[in-house]
Amino acid sequence: MLKPTRLLFLGAPGSGKGTILKRLLKRFPQLHPISSGDVLRSQISKGTEIGKEADKYIKTGLLVPDSTMVNLITEQLRELNGLNDKANWLLDGFPRTFAQAEKLTEILDTTNANLNLVVELDVDQKLILHRIESRYVHLPSGRIYSLDYNPPKVPFKDDVTGEDLVKREDDNAKTFKKRLDKYNEEIGPLREYYQKLGIWHSVSGETSDIIYPKVEKLVYEL
Ligand code: ATP
Ligand code: MG
Repeated sequence: MLKPTRLLFLGAPGSGKGTILKRLLKRFPQLHPISSGDVLRSQISKGTEIGKEADKYIKTGLLVPDSTMVNLITEQLRELNGLNDKANWLLDGFPRTFAQAEKLTEILDTTNANLNLVVELDVDQKLILHRIESRYVHLPSGRIYSLDYNPPKVPFKDDVTGEDLVKREDDNAKTFKKRLDKYNEEIGPLREYYQKLGIWHSVSGETSDIIYPKVEKLVYEL
């Protein structure tokens, strides 16, 4: 990979983004990841004003307001020195509305740091509720585990730190349904927007092992 890579990673909740992302970062360590959900959960656990506000939306499966998200993620990009034409980074979960996408393009255009690759994981949505229900997370790091196919070495403890794993408050059937509906509603306009910019790609497959090499290839061929 020679060209600076600024990648947006999209996929329904539970589509396996976290798993693919982990492998991608091992292969391309220069890709600084920013996961909007992790950024928000960190604000919540720190008890900031933004965190308190965001918590209300997240709990019920609604989206946090666009302006809050744009400010928060732009700040993260600035902190990792990501606003220049040499920067490499990977966005996960942001932008996820048309308005966020437009705003981000506007900001990145001024620093010549625009996105050059958008990858959507296109996964059979019948498979994913079960994944969400068996998912546990280590909140400080965002590491995810599945009780079925990726269990921690010690039950309910993070492999790296030994700290507790928790169930996300929004990982239940009712809230999940809302998150999924919301995703399906927003993805159409986003797809159209990035298709017009010529950077949209969709990858599908039944398992992460099938999907991962396709994503890696896209990054290589950029
Ligand atoms: P997964 O955990 O599988 O990635 P997800 O994408 O629904 O599923 P997160 O990305 O962790 O989960 O986001 C959790 C919640 O945080 C969302 O349901 C939403 O309320 C809020 N959120 C995250 N990113 C954004 C965003 N770009 N715009 C608005 N709200 C967001
Ligand atoms: Mg996520």
